Amino acid sequence: MIELRDIRKTYRMGDNEVHALAGVSFTIEDGDYVAIMGPSGSGKSTLMHVLGLLDVPTSGTYVIDGKEVSQRSEDELAVLRRGAIGFIFQQFNLLPRMTAVENVALPLLYSQNQMDLKWGEELLGRVGLGQRIDHKPNELSGGQQQRVAIARSLVNKPLMVLADEPTGNLDSISEVEILKILKELNEQGITIVVVTHEEDVGRQAKRLIRMRDGVVQSDERTGPLIKSKIERTAPPAQSGKDGTVGETVEYFRQGFKTLLGNKIRTGLSMLGILIGVAAVVAMLAIGRGAQKDIEKSLSSLGSNLLILRSGAIRRAGVASESGSTARLTLDDADKLLEGVPSVKSMAPNVQGRAQVAFGNRNWSTQILGVTPAYEKMRAATPTIGRFFTAEENQKRSRVVLLGATVVRELFGGKDPVGEMIKINKISFQVIGVLPEKGSGGMRDQDDTVVIPLATAMFRVLGKNYVDSIELEIKDQLLMDQAQDEVLDLMYSKHRVPPSQQQQAFELRNMADIQAALTQTSNTLALLLAAIAAISLLVGGIGIMNIMLVSVTERTKEIGLRKAIGARRRDILLQFLAEAVVVSAIGGVFGIILGWVITILVTTLAGWSTSVSPGSVILAFVFSAAIGIIFGIYPARKASALHPIQALRYE
Ligand code: ADP
Repeated sequence: MIELRDIRKTYRMGDNEVHALAGVSFTIEDGDYVAIMGPSGSGKSTLMHVLGLLDVPTSGTYVIDGKEVSQRSEDELAVLRRGAIGFIFQQFNLLPRMTAVENVALPLLYSQNQMDLKWGEELLGRVGLGQRIDHKPNELSGGQQQRVAIARSLVNKPLMVLADEPTGNLDSISEVEILKILKELNEQGITIVVVTHEEDVGRQAKRLIRMRDGVVQSDERTGPLIKSKIERTAPPAQSGKDGTVGETVEYFRQGFKTLLGNKIRTGLSMLGILIGVAAVVAMLAIGRGAQKDIEKSLSSLGSNLLILRSGAIRRAGVASESGSTARLTLDDADKLLEGVPSVKSMAPNVQGRAQVAFGNRNWSTQILGVTPAYEKMRAATPTIGRFFTAEENQKRSRVVLLGATVVRELFGGKDPVGEMIKINKISFQVIGVLPEKGSGGMRDQDDTVVIPLATAMFRVLGKNYVDSIELEIKDQLLMDQAQDEVLDLMYSKHRVPPSQQQQAFELRNMADIQAALTQTSNTLALLLAAIAAISLLVGGIGIMNIMLVSVTERTKEIGLRKAIGARRRDILLQFLAEAVVVSAIGGVFGIILGWVITILVTTLAGWSTSVSPGSVILAFVFSAAIGIIFGIYPARKASALHPIQALRYE
């Protein structure tokens, strides 16, 4: 039973008050069939909204199903509404992308968190549409659409079916059909309240309430009231649990469908995220690849290594003016080993370029002349063959170790040990192959040959000085002290005046170089990630934009969903699911594109890259998060729409 007592609804228009309802009282028994009629502006719609729990009255009491409901919150009303009231609208208000049976079952998504299509089918059968369950609304006539809407109104076994001008949009034949169905439903015991201005429709009812100026003008019984025979089961509103897997899956399924219905728009908004994620994956892979390269080439160098070179002064020609030469000699190296106690070992070396040849193959490469100490200090133990000895160095032997690139160029990868090659037309015997070091940045470290220092200086390059001296210090802690001692010794030995000491030698600390390189590569990686993040942000804004348009476009749909029982949370989840679907699919394609880009970069440009599982997961989570973050505002906007205003939106 439904009871209204002194219901008033007052609208404020500026300073004016409009009393749309000015004290309405009546009761409706279960099983009754009531028509509400009256001229335009008499308050019929306002009364229907209050009766239908779509709006709250300004004052008065409303008892439905034994509960006083006149002043409830929007969400409480939604829960009560879906259990107690089924709606039939003049405009049918079916969702265009859903089939008839899905439209019928839709209220169950909100009341039970899952759509029971079997029950929907049965109801469609009852309104004579058993053959049309899989048709979309645009494949049905107006009368058929209204029958689908009637089936939908019954799906939650409501206390009352509320029909607002149910035949207003129909031709006369369909009107007769619909009225017949309503009559049959009432005969089965369902309470029906119909708001209409058509006398025909009003005449079929068993009770006629006429409204005028916000009050009941007349209330007459026109047919016998048959007490309701059907036992209403408890409204299924309470039976569903929130946040179930089934509910979530259904939101995502609907999200997919909606997005599929708008492919171009969906594709375009996906594109932003796709490009952003691809950029993140590719940039991280390239950044990591560069970092790995640097680490690899640094790992072969001990961290307590000092590299001494003659400084800028010689190159600038100042040294020759002052008469002193700052060129490093073999003697310098010996003196450093003797004179600085913290120096454990030293390796002077010379570098140059030369033409190497085997048979008819030629290759221009770097020549490195070193002492045997190089093998240990630079982790250069040959993978095949052996390093040369101190004796061979002294005797200026013509023996050579080849880097991997040279082996490839001259021997096509075959074992070269024992073969004779020519370096600048001088014959050398290959005694070993150096371990691979990879390309550090731009330079290929394997494109080199190593020969004894003395051989290099006096036979190949014709130098009587060395280019640099590498010093291994006994302990990391002694580095600073050793640096000072090395420089002091060199200044005094070369008699460098204090004014020129700054530029005379260049002494580099491997640890500092490592730190600087790591710093640079970190900065680079960060910069790349920042650029990628900006593109993701732009993608997110794109999604937000599209979602806002979509909310406006679907205002009526939101109103309908609310009328059939969706709470704010349900609408919020629905739109969030759509945003997440767009961004997550964009994310997946972005990961694939990013991967392809890294493969292309590796094969075409020869850069090292490294896609880590972590960065893939990060990119995906990030894109889904973008969907949530940028979907929240439009989704909240949608969920905050007032049901009546949304329903009336054109
Ligand atoms: P009916 O459906 O019988 O035509 P309504 O219930 O729509 O009548 O309206 C009753 C009165 O309340 C009218 O004078 C109308 O202008 C006024 N009214 C209805 N809704 C609003 C509103 N949202 N704001 C201000 N006035 C309203």
